Amino acid sequence: MPARRVAIVGGGNAAFCAAISAREHGADVELFERAPYELRGGNSRFTAGAIRTTYDGVEQIRELMPDLTDEEIEQTEFGQYSEADFFDDLGRVTQYRTDPDLADLLVKQSYPTLRWLRHNGVRFLPLYGRQSFEVDGKRRFWGGLTVEAWGGGQGLIDQLTAIATKLGVTIHYASRITHMTRGDSGFTLTINAKEHRPFDSVVLACGGFESSAEMRARYLGPNWDLAKVRGTKFNTGDGIRMAQELGAATTGHWSGCHAVAWDLNAPMFGDLTVGDGFQKHSYPFGIVVNAQGERFLDEGADFRNYTYAKYGSEILMQPNHLAWQVFDQKVTQLLRDEYRIREVTKVTAGSIEELGERMDGVDATGFERTVRAYNLAVDDTIPFNPTVKDGRCTTGLVVDKSNWANRLDSPPYEAYGVTCGITFTFGGLEVDAETSVVDEQGEQIKGLYAAGEIVGGLYYHNYPGGSGLMAGAVFGCLAGRRAAMS
Ligand SMILES: Cc1cc2nc3c(=O)[nH]c(=O)nc-3n(C[C@H](O)[C@H](O)[C@H](O)COP(=O)(O)OP(=O)(O)OC[C@H]3O[C@@H](n4cnc5c(N)ncnc54)[C@H](O)[C@@H]3O)c2cc1C
Repeated sequence: MPARRVAIVGGGNAAFCAAISAREHGADVELFERAPYELRGGNSRFTAGAIRTTYDGVEQIRELMPDLTDEEIEQTEFGQYSEADFFDDLGRVTQYRTDPDLADLLVKQSYPTLRWLRHNGVRFLPLYGRQSFEVDGKRRFWGGLTVEAWGGGQGLIDQLTAIATKLGVTIHYASRITHMTRGDSGFTLTINAKEHRPFDSVVLACGGFESSAEMRARYLGPNWDLAKVRGTKFNTGDGIRMAQELGAATTGHWSGCHAVAWDLNAPMFGDLTVGDGFQKHSYPFGIVVNAQGERFLDEGADFRNYTYAKYGSEILMQPNHLAWQVFDQKVTQLLRDEYRIREVTKVTAGSIEELGERMDGVDATGFERTVRAYNLAVDDTIPFNPTVKDGRCTTGLVVDKSNWANRLDSPPYEAYGVTCGITFTFGGLEVDAETSVVDEQGEQIKGLYAAGEIVGGLYYHNYPGGSGLMAGAVFGCLAGRRAAMS
């Protein structure tokens, strides 16, 4: 029997996982990446490479990272992250709306999929820098996020590209799929609106619609056209549109997205030389104020990786779509690396009054009032501990801070200007638990699969950090296999 001809649309993590898997299962695989070679890799390339997986202890970590030395293992408390933990996190942050079948697939296949990637040669490291703190001489992981791809997103894409190439996947860059039709024997894809090519099956892994200002305004609502895009400019909803034209159903939180605090002066789309450096994720250790100088969110509601994805929207809703994050010297050593990049919007001052004057677009009087009230409301009888939800809170404020509340009283003070940076959209194509795209009747569209950000139904309101790459790999791996065998 001749090998099946499989087209993979997209050039990010989900697409490469699908391509590798389809090739492993004997298909002739061609991958179409809209971006030119220099800008390849989609949002996946912009990531830090953090990947959320279940693991039952240090031995499973060691299996993913055979390079770990005994000394490193001795000095680290990796803990564990069970299936129940992952389900709980996914359920809680999505307000229990996550599709149970898709959630089941993601959670149960997370570790086996990383093992499959490792087997194919992808290297992983412990996510020391961002997800662990030193306690009593040991690195202790927190927040259920322990694994990162070697070399971050760039390294991940480079490794996947090398593996796919070695296996014989044909990769076409600067090749936008602009149209897709379906006939008796498969699909015809149109490349760059001119060339037509037949395939037996297709995996759509070409992202959501976050890079289209028009679609953002249409589905997410007013002012979303003004948000900055954290990653690639190429995810403009093509795959969703093409599948809909074939009768595909859509699902998920169409007015929801992943959006974070992003440097006020970042460019409109991601810049690969800065990567995710424009994000500003250490707000749990300070306060965040808007143009009126007022706090408007609970900076310490939860660990950062359970709040960061929804706080971008909160900033977009503020006057002039901006905010400033404020810290004092008690916590500046805890600020993540992204606070020390050259392209940062930062002001410092010896007093709160002076700082208020320097924060562009902020009412200095309102800011002073806010800090005064906040300082009085901190309960400092509870010790500060960044590795746990310490319960060190404020009481009696209109918006209280639930954890990690410290008075702002140790100059010099630092403030960082942020706006909303959109990462990806939550609404997308409806797939079944085998990654088949389904039509409005719930029937599989034979030969059509989807993986990664293009799939709707997993995330609502919020997202547990590190799930995007994991979901892309899990769904991509399965979709590639199904496309090769269907
Ligand atoms: C700055 C940033 C940091 C992030 N950090 C993390 C992290 O640490 N951990 C994590 O899990 N997630 C992270 N994410 C989210 C993560 O990037 C995504 O969830 C994941 O990479 C999605 O993979 P994907 O393959 O579905 O999409 P993408 O990687 O975006 O790939 C989509 C691909 O489709 C291509 N494409 C689009 N339209 C067409 C077309 N018509 N024809 C052909 N190709 C097309 C694009 O060029 C692109 O190559 C981050 C995202 C950003 C932007």
